[in-house]
Amino acid sequence: MDDSLDFDTLAVRSGTLRSEFGEHSEALFLTSSFVFASAAEAAERFKNSEDYYTYSRFTNPTVTMFQERLAALEGGEACMATASGMSAIMSVVMSALQAGDHLVSSQSLFGSTLGMFSQIFTRFGITTTFVDPTDLDAWKNAVRPETKMFFLETPSNPLTEVADIEAISKIAKSANALFVVDNCFCSPALQQPLKLGADVVMHSATKFLDGQGRVLGGALVGSKPFIMEKVFPFVRSAGPTLSAFNAWILLKGIETLSVRVERQSANALEIARWLEGHPAVKRVFYPGLESHPQYEIAKRQQKAGGAIVSFELKGDTPEQMRANAWRVIDGTKICSITGNLGDTRTTITHPASTTHGRITAEARAAAGITEGLIRLAVGLENAGDIREDLARGL
Ligand SMILES: *Cc1c(COP(=O)(O)O)cnc(C)c1O
Repeated sequence: MDDSLDFDTLAVRSGTLRSEFGEHSEALFLTSSFVFASAAEAAERFKNSEDYYTYSRFTNPTVTMFQERLAALEGGEACMATASGMSAIMSVVMSALQAGDHLVSSQSLFGSTLGMFSQIFTRFGITTTFVDPTDLDAWKNAVRPETKMFFLETPSNPLTEVADIEAISKIAKSANALFVVDNCFCSPALQQPLKLGADVVMHSATKFLDGQGRVLGGALVGSKPFIMEKVFPFVRSAGPTLSAFNAWILLKGIETLSVRVERQSANALEIARWLEGHPAVKRVFYPGLESHPQYEIAKRQQKAGGAIVSFELKGDTPEQMRANAWRVIDGTKICSITGNLGDTRTTITHPASTTHGRITAEARAAAGITEGLIRLAVGLENAGDIREDLARGL
């Protein structure tokens, strides 16, 4: 499909493959393998498995549709879908790096990503230097001769720090490092990192791409040579493949992506402004607020502030802060107490004891996750109802 079409058109139209039956909605191909007319055809198709359907660990038409649609929305040449966001991170590292290589990563990361970089990849000889994502000199100074990858999440989870993608891409380029951006918090509806100089966009499709809290999924979007020659051989051999069923759910989710994310951002801004004026709240972290330290960068590189609002409660000791945070969470009747985000339903979490509970206290402190912090992922409910829901425990 013509990639010059508007985002909203691509979101509902791009990537669609129609079978001989002429179905209007995308078909769900629940099949593990594909049949051949002859032994010779089987041989030919296995030899060129990028171009044909042979086995669903390699490719599946429903997954192809999802990959093409997401590539169009991110403005990338190619996409490889994976079973989850974490398997996308595993796949990009396993495809691009080897023992002895070095990574420079933002220190403000999703908890499991931090765990992969600091505890798992190190066992295979891949080391990571963590930097403050907003400090450009820190990125520059962390580069070593063996640095092969830069990894960034912006806005970060859960503190919504915003890093300058374009500026960091220049540092990555001069270091000859592959620049990977986790675009989970914004989704391509609000931010397109490839257009700002990133080499690879990574997604947890579990979040806004599904948008309704149903399935796990992940993806990597980048240049055709990188995705097809580096990532595809790894994914098809190692098997962190996206299931056809999940791809089909994600295709349907993407169709309403920009409508959802724009409304969720508007709701989030309203709630963030209200929290900022509340006496029990010490600080609000939301890129759409003028008080956000990187408000200007966010305004430049994002279409809106996104759906994630984090806020810190007052309290004299860590114990008191935790008690205050838990009281707000337990006082809600509408918000769902759950770790997921990007859902149409507002979710509320205490990062220090859940998503970031397994990392060391020092790593948590370095990432700025205090006991008084609450992460809200604002959904599509009425913003006034959510405000009242939070007010009960504040
Ligand atoms: C959830 C999340 C991930 C991991 O994705 P899964 O689909 O849960 O594996 C990675 N990065 C960010 C920013 C996330 O929010």
